[in-house]
Amino acid sequence: MSDLAIRGGKPIRAASWPRWPDFDTDTERTLCEVLASGRWSLSGPNKAEKSYEQRFSESFSRYIGLPFCVPTANGSSALTTAFGALGIGYGDKVLVPGLTWVACASAVMRSGATPVIVDVHPDTLCISGDAVESALKSHSVAGILLVHLYCNPVDIQRFTRISIANRIPLIEDCSHVHGACFEGKKAGSFGRISIFSMQQTKLLTSGEGGAALTSDPDLYNRLQQLRADGRIYTEVPELDKLDIIEKGDVQGCNHSLSEFHAAILLDRLKVLDSENERRSKSAKKLNGLLREVDFASSLDRNKEADSPSYYKYCIKFDMKRFPGVRIAKLAEALSLELNIQISPIYPALSKNRLFKPSKFFRLPAHRRPVCPRLPIAERASEECVGLPHNALLGTSYDLQKIVEAIKKVHDGRLELSAF
Ligand SMILES: *Cc1c(COP(=O)(O)O)cnc(C)c1O
Repeated sequence: MSDLAIRGGKPIRAASWPRWPDFDTDTERTLCEVLASGRWSLSGPNKAEKSYEQRFSESFSRYIGLPFCVPTANGSSALTTAFGALGIGYGDKVLVPGLTWVACASAVMRSGATPVIVDVHPDTLCISGDAVESALKSHSVAGILLVHLYCNPVDIQRFTRISIANRIPLIEDCSHVHGACFEGKKAGSFGRISIFSMQQTKLLTSGEGGAALTSDPDLYNRLQQLRADGRIYTEVPELDKLDIIEKGDVQGCNHSLSEFHAAILLDRLKVLDSENERRSKSAKKLNGLLREVDFASSLDRNKEADSPSYYKYCIKFDMKRFPGVRIAKLAEALSLELNIQISPIYPALSKNRLFKPSKFFRLPAHRRPVCPRLPIAERASEECVGLPHNALLGTSYDLQKIVEAIKKVHDGRLELSAF
């Protein structure tokens, strides 16, 4: 009889973990400044200083190393404005990785375009170059959505070659990799447009939030209008007047980020690098600790030269060593041993119950998403779990506890298969 926490036994680690989302007195002060300022939105009156939305935009674009950034209400709206700016819409097809958050596919559909879902690479779980090249043979494609998944970068060099050879723009979804550097460049500097989500669980967050970045001034102009009903900032702001003006080159929508959200992001950006460093150090240690375990391994494929970031620390289990156990049960058992939410990774889009385009859109057959079986993505989602990134903000002792919990759950595997 094992004493698994899931069966009422004593957990390996009952104490709480570092708080997420986190804030400090600066964050509180900044929020109060917005409250009192009389400007809660980019469509509020100018108050002598630049809006927080503009200040965040400037800081974040400087941080990523691109000239232009348009903050948005969330990552999904960053995606739809990105597609809109690139002119991707009705009748167009966009390649989307088979393993990602459902918004990547649904945002394509909201733009009027058709997602063509392709399988992922078994090592990184990011979109597969082979799968993309084979999809390009049978589909005429207007864009390729790249997602750096959990902590691993997509094969940047290969996709850059594919993009140039086929003249197809890359849209780079960096919602998992705020501040990461791959091949000496910040994540976000590889696509025609890169987008970020700043939703609650992400590495930089204001609860809800997003951004789209580019180095192309025309795309920037369109992105701005698409997110603020056709309006852009004026170059000559006047006190107490609106400092956004009606441009109307393109039909937009309201996807604007509020001043409160922008203020939080501006404040939290200052700790992102130090948090990323702490998480990277922990991930390296955990990679080492996991090498001692022969039924579980890290999915971290970063090279020494990279400075990755860890939205989730993913662990792959050899499920043959857990006969009869489902990954959801294994994740639940680990969560209870460690007092932190550990979940299976995303289900493959081909099996994702949230991806139900036919329930929402009345689509003619030729515009329905193309979603074949995805053997690699489907298999991965049955053998991998993700630890939330605040687990990497703890101590070395915490990391040992994680590995202890994994061993304990393996010892108790027979009981896990019983229910
Ligand atoms: C979170 C996320 C999104 C969507 O962002 P929201 O802010 O929730 O709209 C898009 N892509 C990826 C990869 C994400 O993880």
